[in-house]
Amino acid sequence: MLTVRRENPKSIDPLKRQQNWGEYSLPFSSEKLQTQGSRCMDCGTPFCSTGAFVNGNYGCPLFNHIPEWNELVAKGNWKEALHRLMMTNNFPEFTGRVCPAPCEGSCTVALHDSAVAIKSIEQAIIDKGFEGGWIIAQPPKQRTGKKVAIIGSGPAGLAAADQLNKAGHLVTVFEKADRIGGLLMYGIPNMKLEKHLIERRVDLLTQEGVSFLTNTALGTDVTLHELQSEFDAVILCTGAQEPRKLEVEGAASLGVYVAMDYLTQSTKHMLNTKEPLSISAKEKEVIVIGGGDTGADCIATALRQGCKSVVQFGKHPQLPQGRAEDNPWPEFPYVFTLDYAYEEATAKFKEDPRQYSVVTKKIVSDQQGQVKEVHTIQAHVIKKRTGEVYVQELAGTEKVWPADLIFVAIGFAGADEQWMDQLGLAHHNKLVQAEYGAYTTNIDGVFAAGDMRRGQSLIVWAIHEGREVARECDQYLMETTQLP
Ligand SMILES: Cc1cc2nc3c(=O)[nH]c(=O)nc-3n(C[C@H](O)[C@H](O)[C@H](O)COP(=O)(O)OP(=O)(O)OC[C@H]3O[C@@H](n4cnc5c(N)ncnc54)[C@H](O)[C@@H]3O)c2cc1C
Ligand code: SF4
Repeated sequence: MLTVRRENPKSIDPLKRQQNWGEYSLPFSSEKLQTQGSRCMDCGTPFCSTGAFVNGNYGCPLFNHIPEWNELVAKGNWKEALHRLMMTNNFPEFTGRVCPAPCEGSCTVALHDSAVAIKSIEQAIIDKGFEGGWIIAQPPKQRTGKKVAIIGSGPAGLAAADQLNKAGHLVTVFEKADRIGGLLMYGIPNMKLEKHLIERRVDLLTQEGVSFLTNTALGTDVTLHELQSEFDAVILCTGAQEPRKLEVEGAASLGVYVAMDYLTQSTKHMLNTKEPLSISAKEKEVIVIGGGDTGADCIATALRQGCKSVVQFGKHPQLPQGRAEDNPWPEFPYVFTLDYAYEEATAKFKEDPRQYSVVTKKIVSDQQGQVKEVHTIQAHVIKKRTGEVYVQELAGTEKVWPADLIFVAIGFAGADEQWMDQLGLAHHNKLVQAEYGAYTTNIDGVFAAGDMRRGQSLIVWAIHEGREVARECDQYLMETTQLP
């Protein structure tokens, strides 16, 4: 219906929601979503669902059958919509909440109006599925007798486990952390993705026959050789969590932390208050170095801990309000948005915490080695025609910022090279060498997928690769495969 305007889900007041760790978005009513679904034009070429065909520059990497479920939802046929959704996405309860929705950037309606609310519709379909009791454990009818070890329980490992279990193989997931979920559990904060949702999915997979072993690291608690002798194939999905290092004077001062250390222990403490909270932002002046989403999650976490102030430094200038010329539809739109953390910080401190085009020059500490200030300078990030990027500092724009706590969120360098060497895995640029589509490593019967292969990415890509590596592994084990 072209007369219907897009609506977004409402969220809890930004000042109220920072008093707790609950999900900040409020659900849409079914009636509203049916009307929203009716905005879909069922295009001849649905760019929204063709992402990975063109190497992921647009649309949904899972090829979700978006126009089909939009139409089913518009007609109120939620059960059939669920059936269509589950054909391509193992975990819509995660993507429906935290996917940045490249599908919406590629929606044809978005050429002239706001995109169809695809992500909200996806979330509602799966939530209804669970609420209605339509999602029940479906263990495979037959077992093949083959055993597969999956290392790492992030979205890539979980998707591979789900697919291979469906194909009848006996799957064991080995996880070095104390809880299952990878960055779903310990990266993304609870207000974006409540942890009981991950536990619910893990319980379902367990009922379907997948085994999980936590506190078990490959290389420390179990060797690759042991796995190879016990299992018919091994799939590595260990992520790319090696942080980029902040290379400035004073970076080793007390009070300077890697973002992931902060987010992990905060979630652990939230889930179990007996877990120590050694890094707390309570009444602290917080600086986040790094302008990305991980930094935003640190801001939202610091607000909930009662920080005194918070500022985020980004190297790049503010994104434009609309698409830039070199970022046309149907690509993912790189435009200015007020994400949840910024909305919350603005509500509390009356200004957006983001500082653009800022380069950190040095960190200064007091006599005890405790951080006390950060020195910065404004800069232009210039992209040459060759694609080379350089930073031009602007003399006279030096500034000193008071700081009690600094979170470094400048991205991830890749996977652990030493660990890959120890296993005998070929790697390049800190990522395991395993060709996209084949996922085979240099070791026979050992596959790799997800962030450890492609670098830090998105959940939707991790699920995509988890599904694909499962198909390749099934083919390897059975010399044929029915997996998509
Ligand atoms: C703070 C943060 C927020 C993010 N927010 C979003 C978001 O909102 N939306 C989005 O789409 N993406 C987001 N991402 C990116 C997304 O979470 C990742 O791209 C995705 O989780 C990668 O999945 P993966 O399965 O490849 O690896 P991971 O999720 O990193 O999981 C790897 C797992 O392997 C385990 N492991 C590592 N080594 C071993 C070993 N030797 N033995 C056993 N286990 C091991 C790790 O403990 C971990 O559990 C975010 C990332 C971060 C850091
Ligand atoms: S998984 Fe992400 S890209 Fe795919 S339909 Fe859902 S929100 Fe869109």
